Amino acid sequence: MGLADFTNKAGRVGGWIPGALCLLLLAAISFGFPSIANAADALLVAKSYKMAGDATKMRIVMDCDREPEIKWFLLRAPNRLVIDLANTRFAFDAKDLKARGLVKGVRLGQLGDGVSRLILTGKGPFAVDKLDVLKNEDGSGYRIAIDMSAASEREFEAALANQALTTGSTVSADKGGRVGTGPVSNPGHRFTVVIDPGHGGVDGGAEGLNGTIEKNVTLAFATELRDKLSAVGNYEVFMTRDTDEYLRLDDRVRIARQHEADLLISIHADTISVKGIRGATVYTVSDKASDPQAQALADRENLSDQFAGLEIKNDNKEVTDILIDLIRRETHNFSMSFAHTLVGQLSTSVGLINNPQRSAGFRVLKAPDVPSVLVELGYLSNAKDEAQLLDADWRGKAAQSITNAIALFASARTETRAGG
Ligand SMILES: [Zn+2]
Repeated sequence: MGLADFTNKAGRVGGWIPGALCLLLLAAISFGFPSIANAADALLVAKSYKMAGDATKMRIVMDCDREPEIKWFLLRAPNRLVIDLANTRFAFDAKDLKARGLVKGVRLGQLGDGVSRLILTGKGPFAVDKLDVLKNEDGSGYRIAIDMSAASEREFEAALANQALTTGSTVSADKGGRVGTGPVSNPGHRFTVVIDPGHGGVDGGAEGLNGTIEKNVTLAFATELRDKLSAVGNYEVFMTRDTDEYLRLDDRVRIARQHEADLLISIHADTISVKGIRGATVYTVSDKASDPQAQALADRENLSDQFAGLEIKNDNKEVTDILIDLIRRETHNFSMSFAHTLVGQLSTSVGLINNPQRSAGFRVLKAPDVPSVLVELGYLSNAKDEAQLLDADWRGKAAQSITNAIALFASARTETRAGG
């Protein structure tokens, strides 16, 4: 109801002016009529705007010269977060509004009636984990601090359905609710697997002795695995890519969260400089690598993001939130348990390397709430492994073993949920 009103209102204003143009207009207005503003109805000045994070998690901070009164709400199609403020002069550089990570676009505008508006458009559905107005410790005014993270369309719709226009100071309570509406407490949810064919597009991945390109092997295998899993009929199955396209690692994680995945399986086939090493390996994420080879592999796989031409900054400070921490630990246990089951199943059908269950800091495995493993099917640097990866019989056997492992894991998860 309130939503429709705002939509109409936005419609009447005649669309949104891009940030840069808007800043110019605002600057012109404030230069042209300085005497209009008296102390009581002076423009709020937004002094700086910063966004940090990636496609799974973002923090946005806007500094204001005094305490802003805000109202915020969500809009769908596309997924947007709208923040209304008192008449505001946005006194920062338009380039600070450049899209990044989970935020596909930022727009500013005047709504009339003394209201200014900030609109953040998500790359996909998202959750607002926190939206606070905080006093700067150095006495230089206030800041609006927003934490948002990738979520599913269902979670976004649920937040939309719940929303009453909210002021910044009363919002933090939303967080527990959001976590509570996650996949585990969703009774109609079918066990969901997201298969991630490694690399793609400009990022070819490793290259085999006989010219096999990793990105093609991973896509062919993932497609076969998807078809096998879909044929079982018990699961929702998605792929992060089903064409030869480049995807950042955090986008792969975002897609898994968007589908409320119960399992993410990232498929790879790397090379290794140590001669004679061959066979499959199953990796989970860990802060400390299980061995130097695992560390080297994670470093190489994480380089995939360099193809995006973006700097990789680790500005995701460790989340201290205890609830998130508990979820992460639980997720990690499930990842370990699935990796163990998977190694058991693969060992009956395909060759494994020594110590086939390993761990390292793979970025693609870092969803806090999606159990995730990375499977190295074999080494393209080994001629026998390379031949196997191109062999339909071998691929069929390996895909069947993974399907069996998923069946075991899914039934254990479903029982746990029914019991809990
Ligand atoms: Zn790879």
